[in-house]
Amino acid sequence: NSENKLQLVHSHIRAFPDFPKEGILFRDICPILKDPAALTAVTDLFEEHVRQNHKQVELIVGLDARGFLFGPLLAQRLGVGFVLIRKKGKLPGATASVAYDLEYGKAEAEVQEDSVAPRQKVLLIDDLLATGGTMYAAIQLMKKQQADILGCMVVIELKELNGVDKLKPHSVFSLVQY
Ligand code: AMP
Repeated sequence: NSENKLQLVHSHIRAFPDFPKEGILFRDICPILKDPAALTAVTDLFEEHVRQNHKQVELIVGLDARGFLFGPLLAQRLGVGFVLIRKKGKLPGATASVAYDLEYGKAEAEVQEDSVAPRQKVLLIDDLLATGGTMYAAIQLMKKQQADILGCMVVIELKELNGVDKLKPHSVFSLVQY
């Protein structure tokens, strides 16, 4: 059941103090990827959430880079496409871009202009929500594309950074909270 799956996911997240900078407690999801049962549990839980709340979804949009690990698996389950939001300079062709701040640094995110059509119903996915800056930038990109944003999904939410407030009125679904 869901409780067992959440427990399995939880037990496959490690914490590394002072990485990549002093003062950051890095939540490492690599053990999830290494264990097929844990990765299946993550995909099951996301799928369950989408089928219950966002049946109309047409595209899963993943954030660079760890959103790419979970997004395509979920998209395949749902029978919808997957689109990449990447860091600047990685995507060929015409792109839309937006600059943003990270918990540790600055960045620019891009999406291919022809990847999302106006009014397409999208769900955004990443591994972790910290300040929400990255997800906020992804939302701005999807707005530029005139997408219909159904919500955001992450494996981990760091509650004390209040990323959820920054993203309002968009909803955030997370599997594990710290
Ligand atoms: P933010 O924009 O502050 O919400 O940061 C979210 C992005 O940075 C995600 O793509 C995460 O992969 C990464 N990130 C931020 N903080 C952490 C953390 N404490 N542990 C692991 N990844 C993090």
